[in-house]
Amino acid sequence: MNVAVTTAPADAPLLAAAPEIARLGVIGAGQMGNGIAHVAALAGLPVTLLDVKAEALDKAMSVMARNMERQVNRKLITAADKEAALGRISTSTDYAVFAETDLVIEAATEKEDVKRAIFKTLVPHLKPACLLASNTSSISITRLGASTGRPEKFIGMHFMNPVPVMKLVEIIRGIATDEPTFQAVDELARKLGKTTAVAEDFPAFIVNRILVPMINEAVYALYEGVGSVGAIDTSLRLGANHPMGPLELADFIGLDTCLSIMQVLYEGLSDSKYRPCPLLVKYVEAGWLGRKTGRGFYDYSEDPPRPTR
Ligand code: NAD
Repeated sequence: MNVAVTTAPADAPLLAAAPEIARLGVIGAGQMGNGIAHVAALAGLPVTLLDVKAEALDKAMSVMARNMERQVNRKLITAADKEAALGRISTSTDYAVFAETDLVIEAATEKEDVKRAIFKTLVPHLKPACLLASNTSSISITRLGASTGRPEKFIGMHFMNPVPVMKLVEIIRGIATDEPTFQAVDELARKLGKTTAVAEDFPAFIVNRILVPMINEAVYALYEGVGSVGAIDTSLRLGANHPMGPLELADFIGLDTCLSIMQVLYEGLSDSKYRPCPLLVKYVEAGWLGRKTGRGFYDYSEDPPRPTR
């Protein structure tokens, strides 16, 4: 048998291997942060979760315990898996806990100034090899990466909500992101049981570039009186075979997050077709942010939730 064997010359530069991610940090213990910690801990990784608010950390621990219990009841994991995973999660409000971390995923509020301030505080605590990812839904990875002093180790890792259920992770390279960082993060996503799709660094990437303008259009339809909340959601559920109506989905995502994404699209692409609906702005100004505040397009104090218009 003729086998061609090629060996690199002794002085050839070695291709840098993807760094191993053995310890994970997550910043922001909201619905996304606790979901990321949940799947990582179940996959066997020690995870440290940080939030500005200590009460958000307590809430995240109980949400993760409840969500894992649901998986136990569905026989997706065992009670022992649940206990072991919860035991791998620690929480803190002090950035010093990230000293030995291999990757920190930022999943705090969708505001660029908040994320920049987090990176500024975080970076001095990290070892030089530590990678950084943002779970941002829409903000430029290149611009966020540039604010960290290590843009080659910075990448977008966009999980979907709810993280334990949704299979996709969009991976977004900034202009300076190096190949080992991409490989390491892509491998991690697969280890967490996810399928990855690569998106270029354009406002809102792929999923939200398409999904959130549809939600915004549904809010316009409501605003202009084309249909009620119930009629719009029923139409898309039964008429387009969507598992959730767009207004129900908006409440689930968070109306503040939807509005931030529309603003990023509007400003980033300079196209009036992305202008946020004034009714969406008004709901956010009222503090009606959807499920997380108990009221959005539906009122969640009632069971089943009552449409508000
Ligand atoms: P959330 O409001 O549920 O949670 C945000 C958390 O960040 C809160 O616990 C808040 O206390 C914390 N936080 C705020 N400022 C902080 C700071 N300076 N330091 C540390 N923690 C801070 O929001 P979410 O829905 O979990 O969204 C988080 C990120 O994930 C956003 O970037 C969002 O765009 C993105 N994302 C959201 C969804 C979704 O469907 N909600 C989907 C994919 C990605």
